[in-house]
Amino acid sequence: MWLYNTKSRTKERFEPLVPGCAGLYCCGPTVYNFAHIGNLRTYVFEDTLRRTLKLNGYKVNHVMNITDVGHLESDADDGEDKMEKGARREGLDVWQLARKYEEAWLVDMRRLNIERPEVICRATEHVDDMVALVRRLEEQGLAYAATDAVYFDTSKFPRYADLARLDLRGLQMGGGGRAQEQEEKRNHNDFALWFTNKPRHIMQWDAPWGRGYPGWHVECSAMSMRYLGETIDIHCGGVDHIPVHHTNEIAQSEGATGKPFAHYWLHGAFLIIKGDQGDDGFVKMAKSGDNFLTVSVLADRGYDPLAYRYLCLQAHYRSELKFSWETLDAAQQGLRRLYALRPTNDPLTDDARYADARAEALEAINDDLNAPMLLGVLNRYASYRLWTEFDQALGLDFAKRAVDRDDELPADVASLVAERNAARKAKEWARSDDLRARLIDLGYDVGDSPQGTTVKKRLG
Ligand SMILES: [Zn+2]
Repeated sequence: MWLYNTKSRTKERFEPLVPGCAGLYCCGPTVYNFAHIGNLRTYVFEDTLRRTLKLNGYKVNHVMNITDVGHLESDADDGEDKMEKGARREGLDVWQLARKYEEAWLVDMRRLNIERPEVICRATEHVDDMVALVRRLEEQGLAYAATDAVYFDTSKFPRYADLARLDLRGLQMGGGGRAQEQEEKRNHNDFALWFTNKPRHIMQWDAPWGRGYPGWHVECSAMSMRYLGETIDIHCGGVDHIPVHHTNEIAQSEGATGKPFAHYWLHGAFLIIKGDQGDDGFVKMAKSGDNFLTVSVLADRGYDPLAYRYLCLQAHYRSELKFSWETLDAAQQGLRRLYALRPTNDPLTDDARYADARAEALEAINDDLNAPMLLGVLNRYASYRLWTEFDQALGLDFAKRAVDRDDELPADVASLVAERNAARKAKEWARSDDLRARLIDLGYDVGDSPQGTTVKKRLG
């Protein structure tokens, strides 16, 4: 398998730490609202990675966090906590709000046929791990306490700019906006590990630096270490995480352990959608904003959630995906054609031909998860058998959905077919034509073969 590693900006052959096993950490949702389809595109990409690893025989240990600690919209004191804002909006307490949207997220994951990670861990249940990590950083001289927070000192971690290839001097000068917060920081990019003296914040825990709550970045470093060890194989997330969140995760993890944090960094591109201004410009879907679309909105409009998954697979995960209702319509039609494939008339019954086609399909998906190329191969062969095997990587639920086989016809249809076969045997042509018309009325295409009547459910 070849994967594009953000760290090196090249495709690299995947070599796991432990032969046959793949450890995978993916940044999970912040649970103060529903996930929009742009968020879910990232989870579809990560699920495709997970499934492709399994198709290649790896045992996968996939860990995903739930960010249920309230975080300020900005680190400045006047910023508002998203969880507390959401809780007030819905008349719930922050804990109820977090559980409600965690459950909603799990439902969306199931509707998109996303396999459940082996570990789903809540930040609020791992605060001790985070405190221990911050202490470790303090011992290494990489953290310092100010009155509003304990900060990571980025000037003491020379590799800080590496992942995102940041121009730190440019950033220093371009700062601004959050003057109050910056007063206490030694360097522009220093970030909070543990917030203190925030009496208005509801979720608080005791810590050596005073009662407070953890910074967002520290939760991923601490939980990744707890479940996957100090060095992991693959870390994933959206491209927006490269310059801050993942950069900070690396600084914390490698600063504390002195070991590489993750060998492969994979990042999914955004979903973009036509802007509200009626122009041709596409914009990123945001958690606040009018273009907020959820799986439930798609389902209410009559779309199969898997049509959205199919649409995601038609773009490479590192390319932006332009969403429109027209492209979703086309994906839904494509999915129907796919589910109409039957094991009869499979063009790849010959084992040698199947092996060639299989190698072609495997090469496509193993080339940095090139799902669009794999779909091209599968659609070209239109082989039931090949689809069944490679849907393990694509997750379109093919094996279950394409079960409407000719030998599993509804009873009324099966008895009409039997009657028509008897009529034809008796050369009762008028009766045979009448039965044919009734089958067509029921939505079937009717044909004749040496074995008798053949019927196939009409599409659409
Ligand atoms: Zn993270």
